[in-house]
Amino acid sequence: MKLSAKVEKALNDQLNLELRSAYAYLGMAAYFDHTAFTGFGLWMSLQSREELKHAGKFYKYIADRGGKVALQALPAPRCEYKSVLEAFQTSLIQEEEVSASINGIYEMAAADKDFSTLSFLKWFLDEQVEEEKSVGDIVAKLKLVGDNHNGLFQIDKSAAKRAAGEAEG
Ligand code: MG
Repeated sequence: MKLSAKVEKALNDQLNLELRSAYAYLGMAAYFDHTAFTGFGLWMSLQSREELKHAGKFYKYIADRGGKVALQALPAPRCEYKSVLEAFQTSLIQEEEVSASINGIYEMAAADKDFSTLSFLKWFLDEQVEEEKSVGDIVAKLKLVGDNHNGLFQIDKSAAKRAAGEAEG
């Protein structure tokens, strides 16, 4: 079954959103790598690489279904933030936007009875639950410690640990 033009366009838009997300995380990594928070910098650059992998999955799926990959322009990402919390809050908003977008494509594919696309998107639905939880947990901890430097460095350390663990695994 051929991809419908509508679903093909939505998948291409999602490919762009994943790349935008990767670029936004790279901007956040650049922000943190200019501060003492090296753990957050590592976490953000790992996140950026994950988003590139997501983009790759959309690219391959469009091509595998005989669709045409249409790459779009990427806006310049922010590389400056007011605080650690602001960067992570921006990241949470971004993840919520990605989840909403994937839900929208799922709805479209369901209306189209495009069961292969539904099956493909299932992985992303689960992934977004994890993404929102991991960023949401950090936001909650950051709100708890506020401006306390000890608290911030504790969270930075655990972010570094998570990044190191995932880079290995
Ligand atoms: Mg993603």
